[in-house]
Amino acid sequence: MAGPDREYDVIVVGGGINGLTAAIYLQRSGLSVACFERKLEAGAGACTEEVMHPGVKVNLCACNMVTLWSPVYGDLELEKHGLEMLTSGEWGMFHPFRDRSAVMFHSFEAQKTYDQWSTINKNDAELFKNAFNTLGPMMGDTLHSTQFEQPQQGPAEVVEPGGLATMLRALIPQIPENAHELNGIELAEAVYEDEKIRTAVLTNCIMSGSHPWEGGMATLMPIIFPILQCVQSVTWTCRGGSHALTHALCSAFAAHGGRLFTGCPVDTIIMEGDEAKGVVLSEHAAYPEAEVRARRAVVSNLSCQPTFLDLVGEDKLPDWVAEGVHAYKNDEAVMFANYWVLDRPPHWEGYPEGIDTAFGFNYGLDSVADIRRLQHCLENDILPDPPIVAGLSVQGFAHADPTQAPPGQYTMMSWANVPYKLPEHGGPEKWDVIREDYGDKIDDLLREYNPQLTDSVIARYCNTPLDYYRKNPSQVMGGTASGPTSLKWFGTARPFPGCGAPRTPFGNLYLSNSIWPFGTTTLGAGYVAATVVAEDLGVREGQDWWRYQALEAGRETLAARGIEVSAPVV
Ligand SMILES: Cc1cc2nc3c(=O)[nH]c(=O)nc-3n(C[C@H](O)[C@H](O)[C@H](O)COP(=O)(O)OP(=O)(O)OC[C@H]3O[C@@H](n4cnc5c(N)ncnc54)[C@H](O)[C@@H]3O)c2cc1C
Repeated sequence: MAGPDREYDVIVVGGGINGLTAAIYLQRSGLSVACFERKLEAGAGACTEEVMHPGVKVNLCACNMVTLWSPVYGDLELEKHGLEMLTSGEWGMFHPFRDRSAVMFHSFEAQKTYDQWSTINKNDAELFKNAFNTLGPMMGDTLHSTQFEQPQQGPAEVVEPGGLATMLRALIPQIPENAHELNGIELAEAVYEDEKIRTAVLTNCIMSGSHPWEGGMATLMPIIFPILQCVQSVTWTCRGGSHALTHALCSAFAAHGGRLFTGCPVDTIIMEGDEAKGVVLSEHAAYPEAEVRARRAVVSNLSCQPTFLDLVGEDKLPDWVAEGVHAYKNDEAVMFANYWVLDRPPHWEGYPEGIDTAFGFNYGLDSVADIRRLQHCLENDILPDPPIVAGLSVQGFAHADPTQAPPGQYTMMSWANVPYKLPEHGGPEKWDVIREDYGDKIDDLLREYNPQLTDSVIARYCNTPLDYYRKNPSQVMGGTASGPTSLKWFGTARPFPGCGAPRTPFGNLYLSNSIWPFGTTTLGAGYVAATVVAEDLGVREGQDWWRYQALEAGRETLAARGIEVSAPVV
């Protein structure tokens, strides 16, 4: 294959799913785009590897693919490029308790969530019904403006009294008058009566990256998140594994004439004055030390610190930029993973019907006290013992997509929430020492909920935050969101106040990795970057194919499968 040209209109550094998204939109809008990826395969955050034994596909990073929410899914016709989104059963998530009860979240039908909650607590089910029927129809617009547009608000505006909490109170009377003074846990305790429902809802907030011990947006998430879960299921895999998303994006990029160069780490972003002018590849790249110029823009799909400190260079940063970059926190959403191969499909003896084929669950949190234990551990860099799995556990691969394991074998995984730094063990390098012991503790915890599951395990593989960091230097400290998720870094404050992301303080230099919104498989960060770059370069107008809103394309796909979402609860 021919090497890179000397010059392109736009260079994208890093072929992750957001970098590829930005690259495709810009290429399709008439610009010439090249993307340079460090590894031999693109998409470090949406990858599938046979790390256990041949034929067992392990989705090492993103497991729960929320791409159906994305306008990108429709605009780029990802189905035509081989992407097939699959889920396992009608129930998306459940939260098991040791007494064999469970709080369940339906994937598409709010009515079924309402009916299941009614068996636990009638008033809490009524609150859900009221909230869903009021807010459900607004979710498409809300998601589009919050996830797929450049943010207009920072943390200060969100926490203002008289803001969203007050507006919602007019619609949902259970919300207390002083809601704006509460954090998410306090709000859940004020509006939900049942401890199991509170715990399950708060756990799902943590899973989505929201810290319920915070105020602001986090205050309302215990009401909003159950709605989001059945406005359009959040629980999907891709046929063949998560890397199928990366492959579909690579295919779309190539189809529109873009050039992806793998095995090409970028060493430096060329700066002339305050403007980005191109890149220099590393001496270890397939094209060692090649200099490639960007006529109009460089888009970095690396996270904040690698972009500014390593590629631009700390010596080129004004003091206020250096300060903001150094303050960026990478270890707020850090996971330890157990991957298992089972010799039979998951079965939950004695639990409510429907759970066996549900996609995901969390465990180890039996009351709000466990949420507070997790908060204490994470805020003080203490390893939870016993572990807490509030990062998601997926059992649905088995039913959704048999291609992810050889016949007669079934894959399952859990993300336990952990700190990265491990001061009590002597530092993050000790992850290599404690890996299997901590994996055993997670096995033991799961056993308390479902001994049949652990009895059917035939192989296990553990991945630590240090492993994640080593595999992808852009994922500093192994953080799953490529940065913080808490309110301080909300909207315009991300990655640091004054940056203007996806623009940067430097001319022609843009960011597409975990700016706002923070990293997920909605491809929001890549979409927002593409929008702003296209507007700045004057190529956004007249692109008729660039038209979908959040949720729209996914709904078309679901409708084609006979699934209607968002019907009101009666
Ligand atoms: C453990 C884990 C679990 C997650 N679970 C979920 C989930 O269930 N659902 C969900 O929606 N999201 C999940 N995420 C988040 C999601 O995977 C990411 O948000 C998304 O993949 C980020 O894509 P990106 O393109 O922004 O960044 P990345 O995937 O990090 O892309 C950056 C790319 O740049 C490359 N690179 C690094 N350095 C260089 C260099 N110097 N030169 C060139 N290339 C370079 C990397 O190899 C990588 O391919 C998870 C993430 C992790 C880590």
